[in-house]
Amino acid sequence: MRASATLQTTFDERTFTIVFTGLGGRRVELSRISVPYSRLKDTMRVLLSQGVRIQSVSPEGSEPAAATTTSAPPAPVTVTTSKPKPAAKPVPVNIYKPKAPFLGTVTENYSLLQEGAIGRVQHITFDLSGGDPHLEYVEGQSIGIVPAGEDAKGKPHKLRLYSIASTRHGDNLEGNTVSLCVRHLQYEKDGETINGVCSTYLCDVEPGSKVKITGPVGKEMLLPDDEEANVIMLATGTGIAPMRTYLRRMFESNERNENGWNFKGKAWLFMGAPKTANLLYDEDFLNYEKEYPDNFRYTKAISREQQNPKGGRMYIQDRVLEHAEEIFSMIEDPKTHVYICGLRGMEPGIDEAMSTAAAAKGLDWSELRPALKKAHRWHVETY
Ligand SMILES: Cc1cc2nc3c(=O)[nH]c(=O)nc-3n(C[C@H](O)[C@H](O)[C@H](O)COP(=O)(O)OP(=O)(O)OC[C@H]3O[C@@H](n4cnc5c(N)ncnc54)[C@H](O)[C@@H]3O)c2cc1C
Repeated sequence: MRASATLQTTFDERTFTIVFTGLGGRRVELSRISVPYSRLKDTMRVLLSQGVRIQSVSPEGSEPAAATTTSAPPAPVTVTTSKPKPAAKPVPVNIYKPKAPFLGTVTENYSLLQEGAIGRVQHITFDLSGGDPHLEYVEGQSIGIVPAGEDAKGKPHKLRLYSIASTRHGDNLEGNTVSLCVRHLQYEKDGETINGVCSTYLCDVEPGSKVKITGPVGKEMLLPDDEEANVIMLATGTGIAPMRTYLRRMFESNERNENGWNFKGKAWLFMGAPKTANLLYDEDFLNYEKEYPDNFRYTKAISREQQNPKGGRMYIQDRVLEHAEEIFSMIEDPKTHVYICGLRGMEPGIDEAMSTAAAAKGLDWSELRPALKKAHRWHVETY
C-alpha cells in the first residue's frame, strides 16, 4: 500500500482518493472512491474487510502516478460506511451449560407439514420464564437440548444443538419463550428402523414436560445490524429455522413494532424441499412477499415436483444457477450477506453452482468465496 506523506497532517476539510483492486474478486481492475477525511478511516476498514488491496491513498488533486496511469478506466464504486450506532449489547453465549441446564417447559408441539408430506417436522416452543439468569438469545443462535434418559452405557445423553426458530422476543413477543423446528431422524439399518435419540424425544414431547436446555451458542449466523443490508438466504428442510427468525424480525408487523429495527434492504429466500407439503412456514413467507414486494423475494425448489432445465429434479442449486446474474450483482454490493443452513449435503451443490455462475461473470469463485467469508458476509451452518 502506498500512502501519501501528506496524510500525516490534519485534513479535516479535505477529500481523499483511495485507489484499490480486488473488489468482488476482480484482481486487476482498479477502482477508486473519494471520501472526506472524517470517513477515511472507516471507509478503509470497510474496504479491507471486503478483501480488497489498497494501492494508494492521497488528498484529492495529488493522486500518485501509479493510480492515474492505469490502462483500465476505474470503475465507480460506492462504499457506504455504517452509521455510528450506540454500542451493541454483547451476544449472549452459554448462559446455561450442560452440567446445570435450564429446565424449560414445553408449551406447544405441533406439526409443520401438510397432508402428503415426507417425514415428520415439529414446531416446539419452551417457556423460559423464571430463569436466573434469564436465558436470552438473538436471531441466528442455537440452543442445546439434553434428551431425557441414558445411553447404551448407562450415561446421560449428550446434548444436541438446534437452531432457534423464534426471534429474541419469542413467538408470543413476550421475551420468555424459545421455539425450535425439529425433523424426526429415522433411517433403516440392517432391516431395522432406527429413531434418532433427541429428535424422537423432542418430536414426541408433550406440552407441560420439562426439558433440559443449554446455551445459547453460535455467532456465525447473526444478522448484520445495518437496516439497509441485503440478505440472501439458502435453506433446505429445518435449515429454515434461522431464516424464519430473520424474516420475522424484518417483516412480521408486531415484531417490527417491538424491535425498533426497520429493515430497508432486500431479502431473498431460496427454500429447498422435496414436496410442496414439506415447505415450512410457507404461508408466513407468502404473506411477507405480498406485504413487502420491494423488499422480499421467495424462490422455491421443490425437487420431486419441479424439473430443472436438464429435466432432472429441481434442487436449490438449480435455482441459484437460474438467478446467478442477480445473485452476483447483489453480492458485489458490500452490504449483501449470504446465509446457508440445512443438511451438510447441500453445500457442494451450491458451491458448484456459484463456481459456474462466477465463471460466467469472469470471476473466480475459489478466490471470491474466502474473501466473502473473511468479510463476514458468507455465513454457513450445515449439519
Ligand atoms: C448447529 C446445529 C444446528 C442444528 N439445527 C437443527 C435444527 O434446527 N433442526 C433439526 O432437526 N436438527 C438440527 N440439527 C441436528 C441435531 O443437532 C441432531 O443432530 C439431529 O436432531 C439428530 O439427533 P438425534 O439425537 O435424533 O440422532 P442420533 O441418535 O444422535 O443419531 C444421529 C446419528 O445417526 C446416524 N445416522 C443418521 N442418519 C443415518 C442414515 N441415514 N444411515 C445411517 N446412519 C445414520 C449418524 O451416525 C448420526 O450421527 C442441528 C445441528 C447443529 C450442529
